[in-house]
Amino acid sequence: MNKETVNLLCKQFGISMDTIKLVETAEAEIQPVFRRYDDIAEYNQLKVLKAFHDCRISDTVFAWNNGYGHDDPGRDACSRVYAGALGAEDCIVRPTICDGTHALACTFLGILRPGDELLYCSGQPYDTMQTVIGLRGDGNGSLKSYGVSFAQVDLTPENNIDLEAVKAAIGPKTRMAALQRSLGYSWRHAFSIEEIAAWVSACKSVKPDIICMVDNCYGEFLDYKEPTEVGVDVMAGSLMKNPGGGIAEGGGYIAGRADLVEMVSYRVTAPGIGGDCGLMYDQTRHILKGIFMGPRTINGAIKGAALCSKVFQLLGFETTPRAEAPRNDIVTAIKLNNKEQLIEFCRAIQSAAAINAHFTPEEGEMPGYPDAVIMASGSFAQGSTLELSADGPIREPYIVYFQGGLSYWHSKLGVMAAVQALCSRGLIG
Ligand SMILES: *Cc1c(COP(=O)(O)O)cnc(C)c1O
Repeated sequence: MNKETVNLLCKQFGISMDTIKLVETAEAEIQPVFRRYDDIAEYNQLKVLKAFHDCRISDTVFAWNNGYGHDDPGRDACSRVYAGALGAEDCIVRPTICDGTHALACTFLGILRPGDELLYCSGQPYDTMQTVIGLRGDGNGSLKSYGVSFAQVDLTPENNIDLEAVKAAIGPKTRMAALQRSLGYSWRHAFSIEEIAAWVSACKSVKPDIICMVDNCYGEFLDYKEPTEVGVDVMAGSLMKNPGGGIAEGGGYIAGRADLVEMVSYRVTAPGIGGDCGLMYDQTRHILKGIFMGPRTINGAIKGAALCSKVFQLLGFETTPRAEAPRNDIVTAIKLNNKEQLIEFCRAIQSAAAINAHFTPEEGEMPGYPDAVIMASGSFAQGSTLELSADGPIREPYIVYFQGGLSYWHSKLGVMAAVQALCSRGLIG
């Protein structure tokens, strides 16, 4: 870091020389890890570009109409580019899919029928999925209320997918096996493409026609392949995360086998209409530019996450994944010692945001979440966690989930701000 940058950090951002030195040390030590991320980002940039070329995208797709949108050109363009970039047969991507939760709910509700069983193979599902399944809340509208049952296979004590237990749990009613790739609000690693491929093989070895579904939130463009390229039948994700590239205003996608995407499209719109109606509301250009910029944005975020792990490891905290370990999402979880550290960490991240930096996050209830949560996300797209953000449920052990940054340098500033806040408040030595 040059003298001018150091001066600016000290004088304008209140970062001490000790903090700067710590982060610089960490950064120097993890350079070898960064090289792999650069290679993957370059590959994915070309892969996405190839999808644009294959789909012959022209600027006319940015135009949009109104009403039913029977021939909204952008809708089809977005679907095809997404399908190409994700190596899937088909895809539905819409600004009207609210978020990842909505995309996942449409996937389950669109494909599963009364009497079917959904088998989660990665332990307890992500918090907002629990109300969709009917594990929490009044169950109204949930899978359970439609007669779709649920079973779950826990991870092994080492937090790996328990393939033998998965095989044993698949029965005559098990129509879909699901895997959550990212850690969610839990303490484990995110699953790699190799682990996902082995899981698919295990499931299909006992039931060849089982539908393998992946909650792919935070997982896109982090490896040379996507789950849909290693046998996963259908997956869903959020445009507030990786594939939105920090440019899409919002939305969600479902990608996979064409017959399954069609079933889901009947849930997203209506049976018989599916993907043939619905406006893009002038979001086509943002969605396409988002996926085009995605590999680069994600590259910055994943480096920031690795740096965060390294810095907090140097400070003596437990992190997952560790800085040197392979990463299959853009999240770093840090086990903090108490609630005060969790709150100060999130407040520091908020103070480093571009938007609403002068706001102070407070703990509070959030729709779909069982515990009070604290969330720092001073983002251009409200709540976007591809942008610099940190959050965590107010429950023991006090784990903070750090992620995002539209550039590596922003993410790095976030790490410095968090360290600085904890030091200044006397919360760490
Ligand atoms: C974020 C997330 C979701 C939900 O996505 P939203 O866009 O926040 O609704 C689901 N599953 C996992 C693993 C996630 O990280």
